[in-house]
Amino acid sequence: MRVYNFAAGPSTLPLPVLEQAQKELLDYNGTGMSITEMSHRSKPFMAVNAEANALLRELMNIPDDYSVLFVQGGATQQFAAVPLNLLKNGKADYIVTGNFASKAYEEGLKYGDMAIAASSKEANYTYIPDMKNIKFRDGIDYVHTTYNNTIFGTRYTELPTTDATLVTDMSSCILSEEIDVKKFGLIYAGAQKNIAPAGVTIVIVRKDLLGSALPICPVMLNYAVQDKNDSLYNTPPCFPIYVSMLVFRWLKELGGVKAIQKINEEKAGMLYDFIDNSTFYTNNVVKKDRSIMNVPFVTPNADLDAQFVAEATKQGLVSLKGHRLVGGMRASIYNAMPKEGVIKLIDFMKKFELENINK
Ligand SMILES: *Cc1c(COP(=O)(O)O)cnc(C)c1O
Repeated sequence: MRVYNFAAGPSTLPLPVLEQAQKELLDYNGTGMSITEMSHRSKPFMAVNAEANALLRELMNIPDDYSVLFVQGGATQQFAAVPLNLLKNGKADYIVTGNFASKAYEEGLKYGDMAIAASSKEANYTYIPDMKNIKFRDGIDYVHTTYNNTIFGTRYTELPTTDATLVTDMSSCILSEEIDVKKFGLIYAGAQKNIAPAGVTIVIVRKDLLGSALPICPVMLNYAVQDKNDSLYNTPPCFPIYVSMLVFRWLKELGGVKAIQKINEEKAGMLYDFIDNSTFYTNNVVKKDRSIMNVPFVTPNADLDAQFVAEATKQGLVSLKGHRLVGGMRASIYNAMPKEGVIKLIDFMKKFELENINK
């Protein structure tokens, strides 16, 4: 039986995509083999690679002067790849809004003069700093941001004002809402939250930023090399790229990012409304900064939190345990989580509250 899986990543995939992948696993398109068993230079795989690229461009409305790369190493590898490719003056500023943002900054420190321009650490990352009050240093190569903070359940709703290249980590929100790619020099995202199995990482980079990687930049991390080779410099993660293509097709058929954004806002809205109207559950993120992908919440105490997770699991609502840095619960409600899953979660929350409110 399929469960409703609220995991933060790797996370649930659309059922029609899984079914299609299952159907094609023994024989992809009459080739007599699966897509993972053939050369990455074969015609069928090259077509998959090209279609995935074209569909992502279409879905995100990515202008022609941007390159779309499928690379490996996860978002974490990008924490190093970004400075290794973009540092010309040797310095960059970071806005630290969570654990991943902090890790990106720390990795960056190995390669240049990095500074934290703003942080919400003092309030356990429950808000996004006010963009208007941030002063960046002169001569920086980029400003690094984390658009959606997976662990703490926050997201940006406005961007910093800067002439420097804006870089953002969209691992947990790519394709969840409409964004203007032109505002960014570079967007990256590990696939395993909103797109595909772990193994492929999306990089969307403005072409004028290519070609000035530091001499020590490993060839695998060099965006210009990946760009020149259509992301086929070496053997790519073929299966995750194939599933990405299926997910992009699924999303396009659904009406694209505009349509899924509406659904995502409905799902998140229902859940936040329920939590806000309850005296039993709490989400302590500043309202305007709340993520529509990751919703952390707690009951009145840690024992009840543990009981909640255990009982929910028995009802087929799984992976709701919160991150160890936050505790409590977290419902990750990515694109592939159907509205029915959120409705079922809320029904369970109501029932659990009634049974436990006086304890
Ligand atoms: C999950 C996540 C990461 C880490 O991704 P990996 O692909 O495991 O390296 C980085 N940033 C954000 C915002 C994430 O959600």
